[in-house]
Amino acid sequence: MAMRRVAFHGRHLLSSPHLFRRHMNTEPMAALDRIRNSGLLKTQGLVGGKWIDSYDGKKIEVQNPATGDVIASVPCMGSKETTDAISSAYSTYSSWSKLTAAERSKALRNWYDLIIKHKDELALLITLEQGKPIKEALGEVNYGASFIEFFSEEAKRIYGDIIPAPLSDRRLLVLKQPVGVVGAITPWNFPLAMITRKVGPALACGCTVVVKPSEYTPLTALAAADLALQAGIPPGALNIVMGNAPEIGDALLKSTQVRKITFTGSTAVGKKLMEGSASTVKKVSLELGGNAPCIVFDDADIDVAVKGSLAAKFRNSGQTCVCANRILVQEGIYEEFAKAFVKAVQGVQVGNGLVEGTSQGPLINEAAVQKVEKFVNDATSKGANVILGGRRHSLGKTFYEPTVVSNVNRDMLLFKDEVFGPVAPLVPFKTEEDAISMANDTNAGLAAYVFTKSIPRSWRVSEALEYGLVGVNEGIISTEVAPFGGVKQSGLGREGSKYGMDEYLEVKYVCMGNLKET
Ligand code: NAP
Repeated sequence: MAMRRVAFHGRHLLSSPHLFRRHMNTEPMAALDRIRNSGLLKTQGLVGGKWIDSYDGKKIEVQNPATGDVIASVPCMGSKETTDAISSAYSTYSSWSKLTAAERSKALRNWYDLIIKHKDELALLITLEQGKPIKEALGEVNYGASFIEFFSEEAKRIYGDIIPAPLSDRRLLVLKQPVGVVGAITPWNFPLAMITRKVGPALACGCTVVVKPSEYTPLTALAAADLALQAGIPPGALNIVMGNAPEIGDALLKSTQVRKITFTGSTAVGKKLMEGSASTVKKVSLELGGNAPCIVFDDADIDVAVKGSLAAKFRNSGQTCVCANRILVQEGIYEEFAKAFVKAVQGVQVGNGLVEGTSQGPLINEAAVQKVEKFVNDATSKGANVILGGRRHSLGKTFYEPTVVSNVNRDMLLFKDEVFGPVAPLVPFKTEEDAISMANDTNAGLAAYVFTKSIPRSWRVSEALEYGLVGVNEGIISTEVAPFGGVKQSGLGREGSKYGMDEYLEVKYVCMGNLKET
């Protein structure tokens, strides 16, 4: 394992109220030591409850995007390890699915308790491998854990039905049963929460799981899996493989033992997985890319709109699927909003996520920065104006300046596609109809935001938006108790809430006949 010490040029290293009560030195090496000392720095895959290397010994390096330093190496696995992980999930399914709901619930609750107990170490791990500021990382740990807590409770509420029968000597029953082995493929932007949002309901329903985290952020997944084992979730119920994504994906798709694919990531990969699931007719749920409109009407409370748009845009350096991708502002308020918004964005502090006060970390990699540059150049070449930022940050590496671009229109990449970076495009509009037409002018349909003081307008616009989630006068809307998911090409199915359970259940109809005494 290669690790180098990182110089921090005498800057103050961070603090979060919880984190630093017990831990004052947050240099990356010290942070890593703390994780190692807690036993949570796992650098092998997990198959059938055993920590294993790749069969050919190949490894991938995990880097800290803030420094470029290698944090750890993990196995680069492929189809063979995945096939073994599937076998182990398949054999464990027969016992795990037969436990009582109360037993599964208890194990999940123990897992939740352990995640919370180790939230500081998990947050440090997230910041080290993903880059987000430690405060956001702690927020992710709480959010990620909330799915385990919620679904530990839902495990006990998998109700069936009794249907009034059309014939008097029959009884018609509906049972809900787990789908079986689940293949879960997750992205790097929420290294913990995207896993718990899938694994929580899957295990609650009685399914077993093979998870493939992103190669950029496997360490959080491995640490969480270790806590699952400690919590009493049996070996084989949760397996983790990582490495060669297409090979792992193909092994999951081809296996007849895998009955469900659940994926969060890009629309392009989601389409491939949906296509690949056809040959074995798997159940599929997909959480794909967004292109969120954030509509600010003339009648909005400007402070609320600025605060909400800022949160919806710059969280995780703009690298979330629900990030405001286009801020549509009505003409009467456009100048005033632009001025107030730029002022607010100037307060975004760029830096290493471990440094105190940082509110925007690096982007995940060089390709992500190049994509942002391409989108900004495309907009300016077509007449848009950069009114703040618009360049790589002086910190170098993959840091990019918080950016605001005005006068964006429908012809620009910033309007058409997800930029996935800290760039806020402002798009002027005239009428409510224009705003709705612009907002819906995309194949994506995940999150949308509306800022208005008018209650009738809130209803009209929320109903007209072709999106799975709508925030009205609010920029942060995800919670474990509400259904999360997209329409159109943003995906299939819902995660979180009682609806999130349905994705891992099959409905079985049982007809009991000839009930008359003979
Ligand atoms: P990505 O490139 O699609 O990767 C997502 C996952 O798929 C990673 O684990 C990746 O592995 C894996 N993968 C890549 N190619 C594969 C293949 N051929 N077969 C099987 N697996 C494959 O997406 P990303 O860049 O990590 O994430 C950003 C995207 O996710 C954005 O579009 C964002 O909007 C979307 N997202 C959506 C939601 C939602 O809830 N709707 C939430 C978060 C993110 P490697 O990383 O190891 O290559």
